[in-house]
Amino acid sequence: MADAALYPFSLEPVEVPRIETRHRRIVTTLPAPGSLPILRDLLAYEPASMAADQLPVVWDRAEGATVWDAWGNRWIDFSSGIFAANVGHAHPDVRRAIAEQVERPLLHNYYFPSSLRAALVKKLVQACGPPVEKAFLLTTGSETIECAIKLSRLRGRRIAPDKLGIVSFTGAFHGKTMGAQMASGKPAAKEWIGYHDPAIFQIPFPFCGRCPWGRDTYDTCGAECFEKGMEQLFDRGVRPGQIAAFILESYQGWGAIFYPDEYVHAVRDWADRHDALLVFDEVQSGFGRTGKLFAFQHYGVRADLVCCGKGISSGLPLSAILGPADVLDVDPSLNSTHSGNPVCCAAALATLEVLEKEDLLSAAVKTGRAVEDALRVIAARHPRVVDAVLGRGLVYAVHFVSPETRQLDVALADRVTERAMQKGVLMVRTGVGTLKIGPPLNIPEDAALEGIQAIGEALDECFAERGAGGR
Ligand code: PMP
Repeated sequence: MADAALYPFSLEPVEVPRIETRHRRIVTTLPAPGSLPILRDLLAYEPASMAADQLPVVWDRAEGATVWDAWGNRWIDFSSGIFAANVGHAHPDVRRAIAEQVERPLLHNYYFPSSLRAALVKKLVQACGPPVEKAFLLTTGSETIECAIKLSRLRGRRIAPDKLGIVSFTGAFHGKTMGAQMASGKPAAKEWIGYHDPAIFQIPFPFCGRCPWGRDTYDTCGAECFEKGMEQLFDRGVRPGQIAAFILESYQGWGAIFYPDEYVHAVRDWADRHDALLVFDEVQSGFGRTGKLFAFQHYGVRADLVCCGKGISSGLPLSAILGPADVLDVDPSLNSTHSGNPVCCAAALATLEVLEKEDLLSAAVKTGRAVEDALRVIAARHPRVVDAVLGRGLVYAVHFVSPETRQLDVALADRVTERAMQKGVLMVRTGVGTLKIGPPLNIPEDAALEGIQAIGEALDECFAERGAGGR
């Protein structure tokens, strides 16, 4: 996720104030001295990005919205392990389901039938509703994007030989395998491929806070914005009949940025008129994160394909692509070694039950409101550097900018992320100038607010240090 030349998180233990509250405990220098041999091994034996991108906190145990290390420190988790632990880390029902499956024992069945796979695909289809009729299980989110591209093209080619075009958005992230990376909207991240698929296109993402067309008033231009983006494509010689599918991240992850409703309606309408598919990438946004089961449901449109991962199974490697039978059946070769691994299916079924049983969609909305209010208080304290607080349900992003250039301030966001860790709050580093706040949906409200307050203190300190000449 993060880009090159990142602010280096300190790997030398630094003195930090001791903290002991109901939800946080910091009792060592950080990184914890005892963790250093592990961190050194990871640095030595893993690719550099694995060791340097994220905070140097060695997870020993994670339950609910709390992460512990082995040296007495505990953090409020605002990462959900990058949106996998929507029902909380190691939920007892999920653990029980996994343990029962392991004890049975059935650890693997290739794609021979299993009752668990049958139960899960049925549940997923019923939860999503029409026009979704079938589900195909995979392992990672990126694979579901690859699959969506392939299905869209196979279907498109049945209509016309050159109906292969995939339209996605600037700034989008869809994964790191080749097709998913090509569909992503960050040119630098795909330079390594060395060429560009001639039928994968990006049109401008409609982020009104930084209008791609340079406008500063923008309440009614959703449909027009989409049409302008498509005109750019047509100016490059693309024909409407060539478009097989649009792929939309239901919100852009790096900044928790939703599309204007009218924009998505315009895409849906265009896709219907030109027999193209509308694919929603719900890998990050699905399973209650935004207060609905899937974030695309906020837009009030139909999805043709839904790509799911992360929160589907509370962290076990499982993903799914959902869609109508005539699209999922178009590929006679869909299967995979780990398609519907029984332990992962057991975890996913239990996860879906917890989402319902604990009414976590409502919890996301309720706790989210309190989190958003608290973030707005912090933003009001720092109007020069906080450009926006965006989000919905229980995902928020705080956008930092340099007061001079109004460009995103990557270093400030990274420093606040590190300082918050020193105060007992864990977030992922986005590497692009935003803080990303996405706790488990069942985090107690007082823990969520305590965490936000600690982030506010971290920002106050980093801002003051910068004013005093620090970076
Ligand atoms: N799409 C989105 C929107 C994502 O956030 C991610 C992961 N961050 C992916 C796809 C890729 O998922 P995975 O890492 O499981 O391949």
